Amino acid sequence: MDSGEERRAARSRELWERARQLLPGGVSSPVRAFAAVGGTPRFIDRAKGPYVTDVDGIRYVDYVMAWGPLILGHAHPAVVQAVQRQAEQGTAYGAPTEVELALAEAITAAMPSMERVRFVNSGTEAAMSALRLARAFTGRDKIVKFAGCYHGHADSLLVEAGSGVLTLGLPGSPGVTAGAAADTWVLPYNDVAAVEELFARHGEEIAAVIVEPIAGNMGVVPPDPGFLPALRRLTREAGALLIFDEVITGFRVGLGGAQGLLGIVPDLTCLGKIIGGGLPVGAYGGRADIMERVAPAGPVYQAGTLSGNPLAMAAGLATLEVVSQPGTYERLERQAARLAEGLLAEARAQDVPYCVQRVGSMWTGFFHPGPLRNLEEVRRSDTAFYARYFHGMLREGVYLPPSAFEAAFVSLAHTDQDIEFTVEAHARALRRARQ
Ligand SMILES: *Cc1c(COP(=O)(O)O)cnc(C)c1O
Repeated sequence: MDSGEERRAARSRELWERARQLLPGGVSSPVRAFAAVGGTPRFIDRAKGPYVTDVDGIRYVDYVMAWGPLILGHAHPAVVQAVQRQAEQGTAYGAPTEVELALAEAITAAMPSMERVRFVNSGTEAAMSALRLARAFTGRDKIVKFAGCYHGHADSLLVEAGSGVLTLGLPGSPGVTAGAAADTWVLPYNDVAAVEELFARHGEEIAAVIVEPIAGNMGVVPPDPGFLPALRRLTREAGALLIFDEVITGFRVGLGGAQGLLGIVPDLTCLGKIIGGGLPVGAYGGRADIMERVAPAGPVYQAGTLSGNPLAMAAGLATLEVVSQPGTYERLERQAARLAEGLLAEARAQDVPYCVQRVGSMWTGFFHPGPLRNLEEVRRSDTAFYARYFHGMLREGVYLPPSAFEAAFVSLAHTDQDIEFTVEAHARALRRARQ
């Protein structure tokens, strides 16, 4: 931690004292607490485009971007206007709306595997509900997930999970029953042989394989070329379902998500983040014959007072309209590639072991020569160095994820100047972290 930087954060420090008396760990979601990097979390006052400004008036170029939803940047005029207009017409009705149809149409058009969509309020709900549906559809109990992948905090998915579970070094979580844990089989990411072996022995017990098709919650780990095709083949042969958790990758790596980019068709897909434009949202969907088992079309119960909330639907729809314009993903790729090249070149010049793992605008800079293909390898990166570097970047005015194991995001709002500013900050932060 950097004491000069801490001194500048007087108001954040005050609020942090208050927060810890009120909220467990001072936060509403664990990684925000800076546990992995030390120091005081910055309380954010406002944000615009690629910048967040904290309560001490310090502005940062932001690469957390609310952990993924803000592909347009903060407070994009189209999103602000859509939310304002909807708010004036009412914020919730508990009845069907046209805006949820428009968003469902935009989603199913971009991701044809999603023949039916159910909106929920978070990615957690989406994954939890998709698993219930997969179990009901197959009449089987077992779920296969991969170490370091995070699918929200439903009991059966909190086994060897990524994101905050990983950042805090927790094996799983107390409060998860032995039964829930026993129904979840965890394998190493990118390990086709392990999946083949499990399916050979237990294929007919497996309801579903759930996977981040591009992992983001142990830091970015792309799939090996053969990994997802093997999952598709093995699940199909065994009568199990393949669930892609595209809560991060949906509309992030392309309009068609990872499934469009990589050409693999899952049975069910989970979405969240970008499709809510920064408001709370989730969705799951897929094959019509499976989704038609969801209540009230079928017997698998799942409901929500604020599901399909019109504010979230309006924000999501406005976001998808902007990203659907030509050139969006080319621009994101160009900006993120420039950033990655700049960061790598400076690390090389200073002889710091470093790699950038990136798919489009989602990326992680690991302090390790790389490549890192699974959780065990990711854990070999230098987290103590990351913590020093993180605080150096903060001091330079760049807000990175407060954990070595999270994805960072470039938005459409990041300009060439922001990228240059970031690379120069990185050069100085590296120098300081090496001392
Ligand atoms: C963020 C995330 C979730 C959980 O979404 P919440 O809205 O935080 O509940 C699930 N899966 C993946 C891949 C995510 O990145």
